[in-house]
Amino acid sequence: MNVNYSVAIIGAGPAGIGLGTALQNYGINNFVILEKDYVGATFDKWNKETHFISPSFTTNGFGAPDLNSITTDTSPAYSINSEHPSGKQYANYLRLVAMMNHLPVIQNTAVKDIIPSGNHYELMLSSSEVIEAQYVFIGIGDYSYPYRPDISGSNYGLHYVDIQDYDDFERKPQTIIGGNEAGIDIAVNLAKRGIPSTIYTDESGLESKSADPSKRLSTYTTSRYLNYANMINIESNKKLVAIKKTTSEYNLTFRDASTAISQTRPIFATGFAVSQSPLISNLFEVSSNRPVLTASDESTIHPNVFLIGPQVTHDDVVLCYIYKYRQRFAPLAEEILARNNLAANPQITQAYKNANMFLDDFDDCDVNCEC
Ligand SMILES: Cc1cc2nc3c(=O)[nH]c(=O)nc-3n(C[C@H](O)[C@H](O)[C@H](O)COP(=O)(O)OP(=O)(O)OC[C@H]3O[C@@H](n4cnc5c(N)ncnc54)[C@H](O)[C@@H]3O)c2cc1C
Repeated sequence: MNVNYSVAIIGAGPAGIGLGTALQNYGINNFVILEKDYVGATFDKWNKETHFISPSFTTNGFGAPDLNSITTDTSPAYSINSEHPSGKQYANYLRLVAMMNHLPVIQNTAVKDIIPSGNHYELMLSSSEVIEAQYVFIGIGDYSYPYRPDISGSNYGLHYVDIQDYDDFERKPQTIIGGNEAGIDIAVNLAKRGIPSTIYTDESGLESKSADPSKRLSTYTTSRYLNYANMINIESNKKLVAIKKTTSEYNLTFRDASTAISQTRPIFATGFAVSQSPLISNLFEVSSNRPVLTASDESTIHPNVFLIGPQVTHDDVVLCYIYKYRQRFAPLAEEILARNNLAANPQITQAYKNANMFLDDFDDCDVNCEC
C-alpha cells in the first residue's frame, strides 16, 4: 500500500530542513522529507579547507539574523561557534535543527522519479516503495550537478567538487577556469602551499562594482586573495572554447582565438547546473540551464510542484544565498495553507517578517540579486 502525505520535500539540505521547519511552524504536519543520503550530506562532501563566505554572527536577537540561519530562532554562529563555518560544521548545524524540531526525515532514500497521477504525485523511491503526495517541493541542491563547459576536451578538466585535498596537487603552476568565488578560493589554497596559478575567466567578481554580494566577490574571498595576489595571475575576457591534450601538456583555446598551454590538468571553477537532474528536466521547463518558475516558485508545467533553494530565479532575482532563499519558506507554507482554504497564523507570519525571512514580492530586492 502506498503511503500518503500532503507534502513531500525532496532533499534534507538547508532548503528542505528550512522549509520543513516553516511547514511545522504553520501547523502543517502531514509532510515528509526524503533524503538520498543523510541530513546535510552535501556539506560533509566539501573539502576541508572550504568555508562559508557569508559570515555567521549571533545577531538574531537584534532583528538581523545570522546570515546562514535557516530558521528564525537558530544561529550557526551560536551553535557551532564559527564565523565562516566549514562544510562539516554547517552539516552539524543542519542536523541539530532537524533533531530539535523532530523533523520527519527519511534518510538513505532517493527519489528516483515523480509521476503525476490525478490530483497528486507518485514518488518512486530507491527502496522500491511509492509515496503519494499532493504537493512536492524539490530541494536537491546543485552540488551533485557540477557544470563542465560544453566544449571539446572538457573531459580533461578537474571540477572544483572533485578536489579532495590541496596537498594532492603537483607543485607546478596550475590553471584554473573561472574567476569567481570558487576559482579564487582554489587559487588561494594553492598559493598557501607555494603553488602559483593562472585563472582564465570571461568575467570576474573581483572587477564588479555591484553592491550585490552575488555579483561582487565576497569580502572574505577578496581579503584572502589580496594576501596572495602576487602568486595569482588573472587573465580576463578569456572564454575557453577547447582543450586539447598532447603527451605532456594541455593546449587551451579561447573565444578570441588566443591560446595558452597548461602543464597540469585545468581545474574547472565553472559552477553547477541542477537542470542536469532528471527530476528537474522532467518536471520543469528549463531555460538557460535554469528551471522556469511561476511567481510562487512552482513549475509552469506541473501544478503543485515547487522548487526551493539557490536555483530559484525570477528574472534578475536569483536567490542563490541562504539568506536570500530562506525568505521563501514562510510564503510557500502560506501558499499551501491558502490552497487548502486555511488561514495562516498571523503571529507566525510576523515572526518570519521580524526576522526578515519573508519575501513575497520580488520587487523588494533593492539590489539586483543576480548570481
Ligand atoms: C563551495 C561552496 C561555498 C558556498 N558558500 C556559501 C555561503 O557562504 N553562503 C551561502 O549562503 N551559500 C553558500 N553556498 C551555497 C550553499 O551551499 C547552497 O545554497 C546550499 O547547499 C543549497 O541547499 P539545498 O538544500 O538546496 O541543497 P543541498 O545542501 O545540496 O541539499 C540537497 C540534498 O538533497 C539530496 N538529494 C539530491 N537528490 C536527491 C534525490 N533524488 N532524492 C533524495 N534526496 C536527494 C542530497 O543528498 C542533499 O542532501 C556555497 C556552496 C558551495 C559549493
